[in-house]
Amino acid sequence: MKKILQDLSFGQLKTLAFKFGAKPFRAKQLAEGLARGKRISQINIDPSLRQALLAEYEDEPVRVEKTFRSADGTEKYLFRLADGNMVEGVFMRYKYGNTQCVSTQVGCRMGCKFCASTLGGLVRDLTSGEILSQVLIVNAMHASGGERGVTNIVLMGSGEPLDNFKEVSDFLKNVTAAEGINISARNISLSTCGIVPRIYELADLGIPVNLTISLHQTTDEGRRRTMPVANKYTIAEILKACEYYFDKTGRRYIFEYSLIDGENADEKHAEELINLLKGRPCHVNLIRLNEVKERALKAANDAQAYKFRAVLERGGVSATVRRSMGSDIGGACGQLRAGYLKTDTPT
Ligand code: SAH
Repeated sequence: MKKILQDLSFGQLKTLAFKFGAKPFRAKQLAEGLARGKRISQINIDPSLRQALLAEYEDEPVRVEKTFRSADGTEKYLFRLADGNMVEGVFMRYKYGNTQCVSTQVGCRMGCKFCASTLGGLVRDLTSGEILSQVLIVNAMHASGGERGVTNIVLMGSGEPLDNFKEVSDFLKNVTAAEGINISARNISLSTCGIVPRIYELADLGIPVNLTISLHQTTDEGRRRTMPVANKYTIAEILKACEYYFDKTGRRYIFEYSLIDGENADEKHAEELINLLKGRPCHVNLIRLNEVKERALKAANDAQAYKFRAVLERGGVSATVRRSMGSDIGGACGQLRAGYLKTDTPT
């Protein structure tokens, strides 16, 4: 595989331009072109520099292999990487802007029992440029006039972002950089299953993104049953790391809680959640489980979800039931890639 130009910071692009004997303003042209989602071959630079770059760098490190469009405006993509691996992404339209959900790894090694991304284990980490390219391409597809196509980013596609910390932190630096697409940290959410030491590192990074924790259970015992990472870190340790994150960034943190019938969706679980979270600067996102056919777990229904929310609210814990977007185009949470790997032959 060739190198990836989108991995580079603006400072590194300047060094590269110098190395190739190009004028410093070429670095700016490159950065602007890349930020617009262009390939090297489409950026207006002098032909000798273009040739030199193309000899070493991937012209199209990420491309949209397939698009699935929902009636509600949601789009799901299968992205093909230069080595033929696939990851998926989702583009969602909200009143306040457009959110792009990106993947950080091909597959995942966290092993959560309800998740399709982890079924085949971890294949490889994405580079920062491969993560960034997902944003740049989709932004370009939806940009109109001077308006950005993507205003918000969530790191909730396949992979565990804090298991690929170096590349994810480079991505965060480059995606928020003034010379690039320049998306504000407060419009970015990073979701983790709870790799505690890395939450501290993220807090110290100085890029105050929204921290989202996939909690999904109210006890360590329950968590160990569904999320192997819980064998390493307890809920108490996670909550302490969240406090540190809040102290450092001033950002309220979010808990994701997927409601699984017969597992974590009863009134007693809501009460336990109140005991854990009451008085904290946090919010709970309730999601009805997306049933994954390889897994036996069953989704809670709407009535259970709204009742759960009401109990939390009454107990002083703010919570929302997340709308399910794009359900008509199926395949949530890693199921697109899983389905693709099974049924399609790449073209
Ligand atoms: N690895 C990260 C981010 C990726 S998953 C994390 O664990 O947070 C994004 C969210 O989707 C996580 O909260 C994850 O637990 C949740 N999720 C995974 N599979 C799901 C499913 N089948 N139904 C509902 N939510 C699911």
